[in-house]
Formats: sequence, structure tokens, C-alpha cells
Amino acid sequence: MEMARENALYLRGGTVVDPQGGHHGEMDLLLADGRVAGIGNVRPPAGAVEVNVRGLVVAPGFIDMHVHLREPGREDKETIASGTRAAAAGGFTAVACMPNTDPPLDTRSTVELVLREASRRAVTRVYPIAAVTQGRKGKIITEMGELREAGAVAVSDDGDWVADGHVMRRALEYARMVGLPVISHAEDPLLRGCGVMHEGYWSTVLGLRGIPAAAEDVAVARDIALARLTGARLHIAHISTAGAVDLVRRARAEGLEVTAEAAPHHFTLTDEAVRGYNANTRMSPPLRSEADRDAVREGLRDGTIGVIATDHAPHTETEKDVEFDAAPNGIIGLETAVGLALTELVRTKILDLETLVLRMSAGPAAVLGVPGGTLAPGSPADVTVLDLGAEWTVRPEESCSLSRNTPFGGRRLVGRPVITIVGGRVVHSARMESGATAAVESARP
Ligand SMILES: [Zn+2]
Repeated sequence: MEMARENALYLRGGTVVDPQGGHHGEMDLLLADGRVAGIGNVRPPAGAVEVNVRGLVVAPGFIDMHVHLREPGREDKETIASGTRAAAAGGFTAVACMPNTDPPLDTRSTVELVLREASRRAVTRVYPIAAVTQGRKGKIITEMGELREAGAVAVSDDGDWVADGHVMRRALEYARMVGLPVISHAEDPLLRGCGVMHEGYWSTVLGLRGIPAAAEDVAVARDIALARLTGARLHIAHISTAGAVDLVRRARAEGLEVTAEAAPHHFTLTDEAVRGYNANTRMSPPLRSEADRDAVREGLRDGTIGVIATDHAPHTETEKDVEFDAAPNGIIGLETAVGLALTELVRTKILDLETLVLRMSAGPAAVLGVPGGTLAPGSPADVTVLDLGAEWTVRPEESCSLSRNTPFGGRRLVGRPVITIVGGRVVHSARMESGATAAVESARP
């Protein structure tokens, strides 16, 4: 005898793509009490809300492990509420937020503040990443044990490299002891100097100061050497050079616990995009050469790079509306990541759909040690539904983010997230444009 399930959601007829859980094909999915309650040939219990997802792809919820939510301190750029709304609209069910806020997330109380605010206002799960060093100054390591207890899932001084090798060694040792990965923004600040874009043909043509690829290569090489010395888990953020991809590939072949992520702008654009001096093509690390971009794509394909992460970095229009030299680094990315990945990687057959799903769900879940990444029964009821055929145009003015800084405005993409479900609750549902029939059919309040 089946009980009526008031809080059950039944996704009928979708194409499930769950490589981690070993599911692939047309099947139904039942979510109840915040968990995956059944997959395959399951009947909807009485009272379940039913959603027809025929013709759509049903994947485990996507996790973006590199997001700047800007709260506390710069709520004019983004808040936990607005940033997670943008995440949900972009198909993400969880985000990990970087600690370079004001104040930075370097104490138990700041980590708890973010989690408290998230529990009130976030529409996705929020996993705080705490700082490696106090005040992100690169000198004294934080109380990582306390930070982990408070809820931090990793440590990073993102925005800056921990340039002092001895401090980084001690940080890796401590992080290993408390079981946290260290995420490195691998860029030697002395080699970067006053550079504002990738050093190469286009920096010469455009007359802008260059940042050599070596600034990243040497930082990744040192970090890997220290990972080897300490046995710690090292994650390279936003990898952007062919040299760095090769170093990570060799470290992994050696058996070191080294992982990496790539951002959509680095697998999509090259430094040529800086022509026109659009401040929205300025980021850190910078857009690189075609050979570097191709190496990032190959790294994503062969598994050297196990994660796609956005590095969503909102800035106000007044801050970005200045000369290229003076503009802050970074672009928003939550709402364009899936469309870019489907268009640039899957339609081009660089990645098959299974691999893309892994890079955006099970991959980041494994690095951070958080739940999700699969639709196996008992898993969190976090689901991302994709329409692979939807053609759409990026319209920054319609973004859920408080910021508009993207170089992709006006770009045509094919494929997008259409429904985002967190803990069994629909937190985002787009109106279909391509004739597919996903509509929440229930009239249940
Ligand atoms: Zn960074």
C-alpha cells in the first residue's frame, strides 16, 4: 500500500544522464523528502507533483565550486540571495563561495555568517571556502580545523597566490591534517608584474602590458612540488596555460592528489577577444593563446581537468566602465556556463554529454567532498534539467546577478538549463523556447 506523498516530485520521461550512478536512457525520476526516492521504472505516488520532461536531459545537480558571492562587504556587486538566484537560473544546485570578501572568510564567525545568511536567503546550497592565511595576507595560516568545523569545505587565498613557499608548505600540511583541499590561484605576482593581458602577439599589437604564461606555469610547478612533499590535496583554480595543464597531467600520472578546474571563458575565448579593449575581457588569469585554449579543452577531455567552474566575479558597471588598464579582473559566469559548455564542448564533440555532466557534478563534488554528483537512490534531490536543442541569445540585462560584466552579451548559444531542483524543490524553471514540453503540470499549492 502506497502512502500519498505530498512533498514528492515526479519527473516523467526524461533522458537521464548520470554517469556516476550508472544511469543512462529514458527513465522516470522520483524525488521525495529531499532525496532521490526512485529511478527507472517507478510509479508516481498519489499526491506527487508531476513534471513532463520528455525530450529533455535529466542530470545530477550541477555544482559550481568557484563563485564570488561578494557578501559580506560588496553587496552592491552581488549578494548571497542574488548570486544563488543567478546560479539556479544557470542550472547550478550548489555553489562554493570564495573567501575574498570584506571581511575575508578567515574566522569561524565569518564562515558561520555566510552559512546563516545562506540558510535564510540562498536558493541553492552554499559551501563556504575559507582563507588559507589570515586576512589573505599570505603570512600566517588560518585555524583550518575550526574553519572546517564551522562548515568550510576547502581553503584558498583565491585572487592571490600564496607566494611564500614556506607558508604554503605549512598550509598544505595543516590542510592535510584536517582533511581539506587547498585551492591555489596559481600566478606568480612578480612575473605578472603590471601585466593586464596574456603576453603574446595580441598584447604587442594592442600595446598592453603582458602576463607571460610562465607566471602560471612556475606557480603550478611549485605548488605541485609542495603537494608531493606534504601529501596534501591540491586543486588548481581556473587553469589557463598549456604548460600548467601538462604539469597537472604529469602530477596525476605520478599519483599525486592534484586536481584542476577550467572556466568557460578559458575554454571558449582567446586573447584575441581583447581587441576592442573591452574591460569585460580582462580577467585573472587572462585569456590565453589558441594553443593554451586547446590544451585546456584537451585537459577537460582526458580528465586532467576534472571540473568546470565559472569563477563568477561580479563587478559594478562603473568599476568596469574604465580604461582596460584600470578595470578590475573578472566576469560573471553563472548563467552562461552551461550554454557555453554545451555549445563549445559538446556540440563540437570535444566532450560527450556524460563527460560534461561529470565535470559539472561528480567532479566538483569529489574535490570538495560534498554530497551530490549522482541520481542514485538516497542521493540529495538536486537535479539539473537541460534542453540541448534550445537556441538562445545571452542578454546580460536579464541576468539575475546584480552585475552585468560579461563578454558574452549577444552571443548565440545552443543548449541551456531549463529546470533546477534543489532538495526536491523547483528553484528555477524557464519557459521552453524550442518546443519541448517541460512545464510544471501540477496545480498543487
Ligand atoms: Zn582566482
